[in-house]
Amino acid sequence: MERIVIIGGGFAGLNLVKHLDKGKYRIMLVDRNNFHCFPPLFYQIASSSLASANICFPFRRELLKHPNVTYHMGHVKGLDLESKTVTTSYETLEYDRLIIAAGSTNNYFGMDGLGNHTFGIKTVAEAAHTRDEIIDRLERGSICSDPERRRELLSFLVVGGGPSGVEMAGALGEMKKYIIPKEYPELSPDDVRITLVEGTGKLLGAMKEKSSRKALDYLRELMVDVRLNTTLKEYKDKRVTFGDGTKEYWETVIWTAGVKGEPIPGLPQEYLGRGNRIVVDAYNRVAGRDDLMAVGDIALMQCDRYPNGHPQMAQPAIQEAANLARNLNEGAFTHEFVYKDKGSMATVGKNRAVADLPGKTYTGFIAWLMWMLIHLISILGMRNKATVMLNWMWNYFSYSTSLRLLLRPTKYPLRRHWGD
Ligand SMILES: Cc1cc2nc3c(=O)[nH]c(=O)nc-3n(C[C@H](O)[C@H](O)[C@H](O)COP(=O)(O)OP(=O)(O)OC[C@H]3O[C@@H](n4cnc5c(N)ncnc54)[C@H](O)[C@@H]3O)c2cc1C
Repeated sequence: MERIVIIGGGFAGLNLVKHLDKGKYRIMLVDRNNFHCFPPLFYQIASSSLASANICFPFRRELLKHPNVTYHMGHVKGLDLESKTVTTSYETLEYDRLIIAAGSTNNYFGMDGLGNHTFGIKTVAEAAHTRDEIIDRLERGSICSDPERRRELLSFLVVGGGPSGVEMAGALGEMKKYIIPKEYPELSPDDVRITLVEGTGKLLGAMKEKSSRKALDYLRELMVDVRLNTTLKEYKDKRVTFGDGTKEYWETVIWTAGVKGEPIPGLPQEYLGRGNRIVVDAYNRVAGRDDLMAVGDIALMQCDRYPNGHPQMAQPAIQEAANLARNLNEGAFTHEFVYKDKGSMATVGKNRAVADLPGKTYTGFIAWLMWMLIHLISILGMRNKATVMLNWMWNYFSYSTSLRLLLRPTKYPLRRHWGD
């Protein structure tokens, strides 16, 4: 039986597992985490609206449904395309075909070191770290008697006006407007500064003008200061230098401004294109090879309609995986990939969302309901769906959550990497 190794169990990897013919292929799924997660709701981890476990699901539970598929925990450290092996942190796996579905990572656009000083929501661990930072600053601000220092401690800058940045800034705005007056009586909402900066002249650049303008209105209603045509050039010693040379103090900077393909050691440089993505043909094959494929965020499939590749979103990843599995199951690369755009959405807090669906744009409560429904359907696990739903209903009426816990490292020594 042919062996397929899939690197990454995100939207693309897991949909490959679902659609590949398990009577024909023995599948090994490699992921550095032992769970699948749902990135569209990472900002809700960062804003303490949901717990990490609510939107993550163990691979081993999911794979019970799929015979002939094994899970291998490990970070991919190298590939040998000649001997057809993948080396992870813990083992070396042999394959007949390799499918890379490792997604994307933060892009700091050459500003080395930014990753060490800013916070992010690109992984579940980053989102949890950002949540801890926000709670920590709120607590520190609450006991600070110097008004100027308090305002410094409570300054949050979100960089990037795409869906992640807009959703993150909206969640912080809701905290400022509704939660701080209730749960932090020592603070006034005026002590908290939330600013979103976006390099272009438009929020939600890939969405329609109406959605973009509405998102701006919503953020302003939530007391978020939005600065368009503003770029971050440097962040050093808590001082941000903007593109026009002005410098300002910002205690916490949350970076959502860009992504690039996850680096895969051992992959020849000539296989990579724009944004460190792996160049693939219309069948998701790399360099025309039948034994090497890439799907999802990491794949760069250029076509007339998408000259810079498909958007790095869940739907292209899911659809590419299904199409590739179909070709592999039939044993011939005959079906070219054609992306069916089902639309895009973003939410800016309770009752405020925008949705560009084919043919029509929705905003406000109706868009927010659609957003909730689609996200609920997509989360893995019935228990997770029920918990998320309950949390959202609870928050809808009370804005109250028991998740604002600051869990400090303990006296017990922690391993640097799990599994070491
Ligand atoms: C904060 C945020 C919000 C988003 N919101 C939306 C949204 O609202 N709508 C939408 O459509 N899209 C959204 N996206 C984008 C969407 O999540 C991605 O497009 C989608 O996850 C891509 O799927 P993928 O399978 O290619 O990669 P991923 O889902 O990222 O999966 C990659 C997997 O590979 C694993 N991996 C990576 N490198 C290695 C390695 N070296 N070794 C082992 N394992 C590895 C990772 O652990 C991960 O499990 C959002 C993304 C983020 C970060």
